[in-house]
Amino acid sequence: MKTNVLPKVVVSPDPVLGAKVRAIPRVDDEIRDMVKVMRKVMVKNQGVGLAANQIGIPVALFVAQIESDFYVFINPKITKISRDKDEMVEGCLSVPGYWGIVPRHKEVTIEGVGLNGKKQKIKAKGLLAQIFQHEMDHLEGKLYIQRTDKVRKLELQK
Ligand code: ZN
Repeated sequence: MKTNVLPKVVVSPDPVLGAKVRAIPRVDDEIRDMVKVMRKVMVKNQGVGLAANQIGIPVALFVAQIESDFYVFINPKITKISRDKDEMVEGCLSVPGYWGIVPRHKEVTIEGVGLNGKKQKIKAKGLLAQIFQHEMDHLEGKLYIQRTDKVRKLELQK
């Protein structure tokens, strides 16, 4: 994959967003290049997370970033959730021009493989927990607009 030409974010209702993703057998140069591209696409579009199927590649991989903390999860699974939920304001690069209010678990534990090929596990809360749940939904072919009927059009579109 070339890193100098960035792919466009796939927009709903493209079927790749609802397709089943494949597990990644090993972390190799192709995967490392893909992560670089995904990070650039996420930053360029001012996103806080991006799943591989959002650039048209249905594999189990997502990236996320809050301020300077960058996360890569390969073959991730949510292994623990809090019972409590919060109503969170949410948007998605694949659903441009809209935002919604989505119930999300306050805390989740996520396990998977990191970019170094080793297992990693993170217990997240608040915004990070929300991002992880949103990206896991992508890898399961689901968009936030399928989890809520509180979806609104953005008023201040340029
Ligand atoms: Zn999204």
